[in-house]
Amino acid sequence: MKDETKIVVAGRSPETNFGIVNAPVYHASTVLYSSLSELQKAHKDRAEGKQVVTYGRMGTPTTWSLENAVAELEGGYRTQVFPSGLAACAHAIQTFVQAGDHILVTDSVYNPTRQYCDHMLKKFGVETTYYDPLIGSSISELIQPNTKVVFTESPGSQTFEMQDIPAIAEAAHKAGAVVLMDNTWASPLYYKPFEHGVDVSIQAGTKYIVGHSDVMIGTVTTTKEHWPALQACANIMGQTAGPDDVYLAQRGLRTLSVRLKQHMENAIKVAEWLKGRPEVHSVLHPALEDHPGHDLWKRDFLGASGLFSFRLNACSRDAIAAFMDDLELFGMGYSWGGYESLIIYADPSSYRTATKWDNTNPLLRLHIGLEDTDDLIADLSAGFERLNKLK
Ligand SMILES: *Cc1c(COP(=O)(O)O)cnc(C)c1O
Repeated sequence: MKDETKIVVAGRSPETNFGIVNAPVYHASTVLYSSLSELQKAHKDRAEGKQVVTYGRMGTPTTWSLENAVAELEGGYRTQVFPSGLAACAHAIQTFVQAGDHILVTDSVYNPTRQYCDHMLKKFGVETTYYDPLIGSSISELIQPNTKVVFTESPGSQTFEMQDIPAIAEAAHKAGAVVLMDNTWASPLYYKPFEHGVDVSIQAGTKYIVGHSDVMIGTVTTTKEHWPALQACANIMGQTAGPDDVYLAQRGLRTLSVRLKQHMENAIKVAEWLKGRPEVHSVLHPALEDHPGHDLWKRDFLGASGLFSFRLNACSRDAIAAFMDDLELFGMGYSWGGYESLIIYADPSSYRTATKWDNTNPLLRLHIGLEDTDDLIADLSAGFERLNKLK
């Protein structure tokens, strides 16, 4: 089955829900059993990995509709939902470490994931080393006897470096480390992590899976080998997501393939246009041929989403504000993946540690939504006029 078909049928089970197309919203905490044997059987089945309702926190048919669809699309064994993308990142890491361990994390990681490593992991005696996202197979030089996790994210948050995931995975596996990837940018459609050596893949479902900027959710998908550990960690830590949010995520997922195609097309158009602007220093979009990671993107990815950055020629803060403040179609705000366009200013030099980021050319990150690109370009164009007056 092709992905466009899978995304429509995966995880659905109308036959067990009165023929209703989408898995309904099951609100549940207590689940009643009719006998002790039924209760014990349910727990035994669950311990064997079956999807049975035992208690609200452990999942319901609503949860499984999303989890099973994401597992199938990403090409993993099973998926666990979390209440946010960050919770998914944190628990995926936490599953595989204990006090005294060491992990390697890309310097281009989503900044809140870095905060988790620098604060929570540190507090519990796990050491983090950040590595150059472009390190490739040389990561083997940073692997210590106690390195248990290699965390990747490609392209990098805000800066869009492409990582050579298969090379990193090979080196990590030689040393017995588990390879995690934050696969949010490509979504389960445009990158198939398990075909490239990833053991554990994370989605901030908040972004493209939900697709409408109104729900927080995360998923972690693993290989068969790593599933029991991940599921145990999630359960012990009390991780669960509300059924209404899960429902909206599985509803959003059904249209992801058409939305993503449009985000990709629109973003490439805007990126190409930006490249020709005299105010622009560079455009950081992996699908553009002059992006340093373009070859890796072409080799491993099936598409590009609507998120990329560009850097301005050096200009004043007032000029940047004049550009951003009066944009009409680009909302100024965090997150992305919804139907609407967004812009945010970022200074990667403020948090990078393994690599130096020169902030002389200010970085603006765009999410290109589903609006008409002529309108988006006109909006940006007016922004450049305001910028030029204050440069
Ligand atoms: C947004 C984001 C997250 C966190 O997701 P939330 O649902 O906002 O917690 C993690 N990784 C990446 C790459 C993200 O963009």
